[in-house]
Amino acid sequence: MRKRMAAGNWKMNKTATEARALIEELKPLVANTDVDVVFCVPFISIIPAVQAVAGTGISIGAQNMYFEENGAYTGEIAPNMLTDAGVKHVIIGHSERRQYFGETDEDVNKKVLKAYEHGITPIICCGESLVQREQGITIDWIRQQVKIAFQEVTPQLAKLAVIAYEPIWAIGTGKVATTEQAEEVCRKIRECIEEIYDVSVAEEIRILYGGSVSGANAAELFSMPDIDGGLVGGASLKADFAKIVNS
Ligand code: PGA
Repeated sequence: MRKRMAAGNWKMNKTATEARALIEELKPLVANTDVDVVFCVPFISIIPAVQAVAGTGISIGAQNMYFEENGAYTGEIAPNMLTDAGVKHVIIGHSERRQYFGETDEDVNKKVLKAYEHGITPIICCGESLVQREQGITIDWIRQQVKIAFQEVTPQLAKLAVIAYEPIWAIGTGKVATTEQAEEVCRKIRECIEEIYDVSVAEEIRILYGGSVSGANAAELFSMPDIDGGLVGGASLKADFAKIVNS
């Protein structure tokens, strides 16, 4: 049985002071122990966030990291900086990173391998644009993203990964994929993992849906057989997140 996950992607929102306050507000509301709850906060809020969730089951994640260990990479964050701060999860290859910061599938693969080297669980994002969906190439596109992301990842490590299917046209738009659309792609992702590895990896790996998840639609989305929870943007900054966690 796969454990459900509700991961909040705070994106570039909240100062460290505000982050602390929001965590204090959400903490008692998301104390549902049979779901993995992760807050992926901005880098500068990681340390106060880790302190704020101490003693709860909540984990703190990052939204990105670099694939080198250290050195002359102005503005980047190294994996051991994250683990030292108490980070357990890192979002990799979010569509906003790909779109605005030029991240490629190859970068995603390097970051995934590096995250594993440091014992950080990658939350690997994939998703198609509206044009790609209309062209009917969604599944081919996602399969390619997944195959490259998992290059040279061993089956033992692949099992630990979290994949987030996030159709770009549904992110921050209020235009949620239908339950059937979301389930179809998540099932295809699981089939792709079975092809790369085997049925046991496919059955263990967690696949989340992301894109305008809210308290109103989470329960239906998460009831689907191949959707193991959500990666939540906007709604993770509000008390609505508690409703999602409890869905
Ligand atoms: P959204 O963002 O829930 O605001 O659509 C999801 C995401 O980008 O992870």
